[in-house]
Amino acid sequence: MAKAFANISFTPKVKEFQTKMSSRDNYQNFELGENEVVALSEFEKQFIGERDSFYQATIAENGWPYVQHRGGPAGFIKILDDHTIGYADFTGNRQYLSVGNLLGDDRISLILMDYPRRQRLKIWGRARLIDELTDSNLLAQLEPEDSRAPIERGVVITVEAFDWNCPKYITPRYTQSDVNKLLAEAKSSSDKKAIYGYKYAGNAAIPLTITDIRQVAKNIRAYELTHSHGLDLPGYEAGSHITVPVMLPDGSETSRSYSLISPHKNTGPYIIAVKNEGHDQGASKVIHQHWQVGMEITTDQPKNYFSLHKDNRPAVLIAGGIGITPIKAMVEELLSRNSSFELHYTAKLSSEMAFYRELLESGSEYCHFYFSQQTNSQRLDLKKVLSKAPEQAVFYFCGPKNLLDASIRMANELGIERERIHFESFQ
Ligand SMILES: Cc1cc2nc3c(=O)[nH]c(=O)nc-3n(C[C@H](O)[C@H](O)[C@H](O)COP(=O)(O)OP(=O)(O)OC[C@H]3O[C@@H](n4cnc5c(N)ncnc54)[C@H](O)[C@@H]3O)c2cc1C
Repeated sequence: MAKAFANISFTPKVKEFQTKMSSRDNYQNFELGENEVVALSEFEKQFIGERDSFYQATIAENGWPYVQHRGGPAGFIKILDDHTIGYADFTGNRQYLSVGNLLGDDRISLILMDYPRRQRLKIWGRARLIDELTDSNLLAQLEPEDSRAPIERGVVITVEAFDWNCPKYITPRYTQSDVNKLLAEAKSSSDKKAIYGYKYAGNAAIPLTITDIRQVAKNIRAYELTHSHGLDLPGYEAGSHITVPVMLPDGSETSRSYSLISPHKNTGPYIIAVKNEGHDQGASKVIHQHWQVGMEITTDQPKNYFSLHKDNRPAVLIAGGIGITPIKAMVEELLSRNSSFELHYTAKLSSEMAFYRELLESGSEYCHFYFSQQTNSQRLDLKKVLSKAPEQAVFYFCGPKNLLDASIRMANELGIERERIHFESFQ
């Protein structure tokens, strides 16, 4: 399409100015290649077919351009074939400026706008005027549905070029019907919230009931989820997570992923631990404030993008804050396998460290705890931990972004092979 557009628009003076402004090199490419057969694709056809107005320029006999706004019901511009469009011209103020101009010069240029989506299509073409006497069949094709206004003529345009423009300076604007539609959507979303409150169950395959809630650290709660019909839940391995539905305060339905904190091969229940990140519009705050025992949600099969290796190589587990959730499942799995591992777990304070006591009791000789805001506490020294790790150890990192980044960087610096490094980001 670029060539047809350039042939029409890049006049000698335009080219001269492009050269002066150093944009000529870029635009010269538009003029290369074969002459094109101009054809509207389905994309342009749909765009044109949805419009309820456009701007149209014609050329007066005295050389003045004349721009006019045309409007009608959405879809009033008809697509007649791959390179012909047309519209019905209704009785107006009877100045007949565009019509008079087109009788002298058939060249026409249109701009079609989609303000909400910030799209703009320019069309160049040649127009011919038809009426009841010259082509009543074609005129009938141009008539909009439900039209009651008298049609004076049809304007049939053979498209010679078109061009899409950049959205940069298009301010989104909405018609009354766009606004009504958006209000209806918002209302249905708030109606849903009025009906369900935050008890939004989602529509995944597995029905779960919250059967227990425990505070496991400051801002962290563990939720026990049991199959609502008493059935076995799908099994999973350490490192897995499920995705749960949440309705946010603005009424929007969304979901968040949470790691399953103990591995299990079958039955149930599932247990997740959620840290309240404290954002007013955040899902974790909704979960803390509104999830109650007895509430039902749905989920899908657990997924695992953070699995443990299966062989006997030792594991080094590094967890920061809420990043302990998949790592805790790994600790349990490694203990049950009798596999060698070490855990390095860091949080700001012991009160913010979920499962501190449980881990301390489960295998204190393998577990090392670090508290970054507690006086007299040892700090996690990544270089020391990684460089002193047993030979061929496989590393697992989960926690805040800065801990993940630092752990990966250190592992790279120490030349630990990529295949031995595994991590999961919660972002
Ligand atoms: C595999 C995995 C396991 C996780 N396990 C745990 C866990 O065990 N415990 C825990 O507390 N957290 C876990 N998380 C993080 C959790 O999913 C949420 O991101 C967290 O609870 C913060 O959500 P929020 O809406 O309260 O916070 P916000 O600060 O509002 O959300 C954090 C940011 O991420 C965006 N965001 C987060 N999730 C989604 C999503 N699903 N779709 C679109 N945008 C999203 C939000 O828009 C926002 O920009 C896990 C995440 C992943 C990917």
